[in-house]
Amino acid sequence: MQYTLKKSLGQHFLHDENMCRKIVLQMQHRQGMNLLEIGPGAGALTKYLVEWEDIAYKAIEIDKEKVEYLYKTFPGLKDKIILQDILKANAPFNTMFNIIGNFPYNISSQILFKILEWEPQVEEVIGMFQKEVAQRIAAPPGSKTYGILSVLIQAFFKVEYLFDVHEKCFTPPPKVKSGIIRMVNAKNPFGINNREKFSLLVKTAFNQRRKTLRNALKSILPTAALADPIMSKRAEQLSVADFVALHKQYYF
Ligand code: SAH
Repeated sequence: MQYTLKKSLGQHFLHDENMCRKIVLQMQHRQGMNLLEIGPGAGALTKYLVEWEDIAYKAIEIDKEKVEYLYKTFPGLKDKIILQDILKANAPFNTMFNIIGNFPYNISSQILFKILEWEPQVEEVIGMFQKEVAQRIAAPPGSKTYGILSVLIQAFFKVEYLFDVHEKCFTPPPKVKSGIIRMVNAKNPFGINNREKFSLLVKTAFNQRRKTLRNALKSILPTAALADPIMSKRAEQLSVADFVALHKQYYF
């Protein structure tokens, strides 16, 4: 091998070419589209993406060694890879863009928050996560895995769990299971007008998920709100629409 594998950076590289193609095919390919790949690594997905000559492609990769490897291996990528920590990056395009990636699992939540930060510009995401995280993002209300990320992501995106990816498809095989999801921007369907407060409401409600909302939210809601019958429920029983209603009525 012409490069090292860094565990600390979540480097589990896909080697199963059928799986790489299958993942790339999930991305709707439109002429002229902007596409960001997060963590291209040694180019498992990248080599198929660069075949789309009619799109604007960029990648963000934190590992200098991999960036150099990619430039050497795929001369067509010249100047398209940004050597940077995705969590510190600004949106790489000025207009709408799509995102694809086999994301480093150790920072999946932070990547999702980054995607939420860029949401007004993000059209569609095809992403690989640890299976539990992928399921959590897609989870419906009432399920055990339904939580902060489910509500915040589903408030802005239509989420679909696509398929599992077997450990054997990677070098080295990860110890956890993997899954692919599609997120399509739903264009703020609930008309959330203060994202910071909506997000704080959801986080506070789930921080004490076993308590009633009355208890969990008493530090941030006006006293009058605590008399609402919905306050006898627990966070996991509320739909995204319920959270939006609370936000608009009591905490905006
Ligand atoms: N897409 C490749 C590699 C996936 S592994 C494949 O499927 O084979 C995850 C990749 O994300 C690694 O290349 C790793 O170096 C990169 N990465 C890890 N942390 C990152 C960060 N904070 N910002 C950008 N890239 C990161």
